[in-house]
Formats: sequence, structure tokens, C-alpha cells
Amino acid sequence: VIVRVKSSEDSSHVQRALVALGLWVERFEDDSQVSFLVAAHSSAVEEAAVRAIPGVESVARRPSLHPRIDAQSSPIDIAGISLGPGAPPVLMAGPCAVESEAQIDELAQRIARYGARFLRGGAYKPRTSPYSFQGHGEPALGWLRRAADRHGLKVVTEVLEPGDAPRVAEAADLVQIGSRNMQNFALLKAVAHERKPVMVKRGVAATIEEWLLAGEYCLFHGAPAVVFCERGVRGFDPSTRNLLDLGAVALLGQVQKRPVVVDPSHACGRRDLVVPLGRAALAAGASGLLIETHLDPGRALSDGSQALAPELLDQFLDP
Ligand code: PEP
Ligand code: MN
Repeated sequence: VIVRVKSSEDSSHVQRALVALGLWVERFEDDSQVSFLVAAHSSAVEEAAVRAIPGVESVARRPSLHPRIDAQSSPIDIAGISLGPGAPPVLMAGPCAVESEAQIDELAQRIARYGARFLRGGAYKPRTSPYSFQGHGEPALGWLRRAADRHGLKVVTEVLEPGDAPRVAEAADLVQIGSRNMQNFALLKAVAHERKPVMVKRGVAATIEEWLLAGEYCLFHGAPAVVFCERGVRGFDPSTRNLLDLGAVALLGQVQKRPVVVDPSHACGRRDLVVPLGRAALAAGASGLLIETHLDPGRALSDGSQALAPELLDQFLDP
């Protein structure tokens, strides 16, 4: 945003008013005309409030790069469940990977008792190493769907390849784009064509603007709704697996009123931090939580160290 000051006016007076609104400004001068460039990390302020400052001549702003995401109203609807500012928080839980039909059915039953609305679990797993368990693939989609239906839950699961988009979208109520694929535009497009709501997980080095643009891709290509998921960005400290960006959550959830879910499991990678971070996320403005849950974490085929026993799900939502 660029704020131009009337040439007859005292610009320091305008500068003080801008700072008082929470705006970070840089002063520019062109002959006798003074302008202020407002930094992106400034507070959200109505344009009318800036125009109303005595001495302001004009306010110019760059058009938004993601008009469809901006226009998406909250809460969004996912198979009859409302998610986003204005709706109660939504709990999504389940294992990192769907390991067997019996496992996912038992877990679905257990998580439903704690108020979870979505069953998560990967049929296709994006593993950092090719030697790690890659998921059971298509059969696991059917196990997930049946377990969810039997216990009154919705399904959220990840798609890895454009060619799998139709079958994943058929089994899922909410299609997950993993962190590693946030900017896989061919995948975003293929998923959007399936006309199912999409959950876009943030890339480990993605700016908020890039993340919103990934969501814009989905809406542009036909997805009916998009929810964002913060799962930690790449930090510098190995004490936690990633660095949970709660500033981004407060910005999207509280200030911009967008649907954002937080995955504290992948954010910290440690079971002992999942409950405090999940609670902090809800306080910061998250509209939901995605929690990795396992019946026997020690035997999990992936991410057991960060999995919670289902009983611990009672720590997140008010009864
Ligand atoms: C997951 O949710 O199973 C997962 C792989 O997460 P992420 O894409 O955030 O690493
Ligand atoms: Mn996992």
C-alpha cells in the first residue's frame, strides 16, 4: 500500500497517525510530494481509516493475487460439517498411515468417542526415504471409507499423484495436499477437477502468500472449498521436528477469518508437545486440529513417536 500526502500538509503528522494504526511505514519523497510505503507485516487496517487521516491525498494498493480465496466465506462446508471462523473447532484424528482394516476400524470407533468428526490416515504416504513404509494404497482407501461410515465420521486423506486423484476424491470428504506437494501445480489442478473440498498443508519453506496461492489454484480449477493446514515450517533447532508458526495461524484464523487447521503432530514430532501445542493453536485462532493417533504407537509403521493414544484426545475440546 502506498499512502500519498497532500503537498501542502505536514507529513510527520500523517506518519504518526499511520504508526498509531499499527502500520510500518517507509518515507519517500518526490519533489515536494511525500509518500509512505506500508510494509506487508503491518496490522490489518481498513483502507477507509487511512483515507480518513487528515492530510492523506490518496491510497494505492496492489490488487490481491488470490481473489477467490479472499472471497471464500467462512465457515466452509465439508460434507455437512462447518469448518472455519464462526463454527466450533473440528477435531480430525487417526494414524499417520492406514495399516490394516481392523486397525482403522478400531481407531475410528475410539476417536469418535472423543468428539472427532474426521478420520485421517494415509493410504499413499509421502516418505522421505524410499525404504520406509509407503502405504497400502488403494485398498486402504476402502478401509478408511468403511471405518468412517461405520462410526459416523468423515474422511481426510492425502493424494500423491494426479492419476490417483479420482479414486482418492471418491473415498475422501476432504482431500489432503501434503506439505511436500503444496506447489505441485499439476497435482493441485487434478485434485481440484474432482470437485471435492481440499486441505492444503503448508510447505516447509512456503510463505503465507505462496500458501494462499496454492489454495487459489484449487479454487480456480474447480475445488468447491479450501482449508489451510499449518504443520510447522523448517526451523533451525532440531529439538522439535519443525517450527509451529502460530503467528501464521493467528493471522489467517483471527485476522483474516480464513479456515485454518493445525497439525501439531508433524509440527513438533514429539508426543509430549502435541497437547500443549494443539491447545495453543485453538487459542491462536485455529478452526480445527489434525492429530496423529495410534492404538499402539510403539508398533506404528510410521511416525509412532509423535502419535497420541486415542484417550488423550479428550484434552483438546471443551466438553
Ligand atoms: C500427513 O499428514 O500424513 C503428512 C505426511 O503430513 P505433512 O505433509 O504435513 O508432512
Ligand atoms: Mn505422519
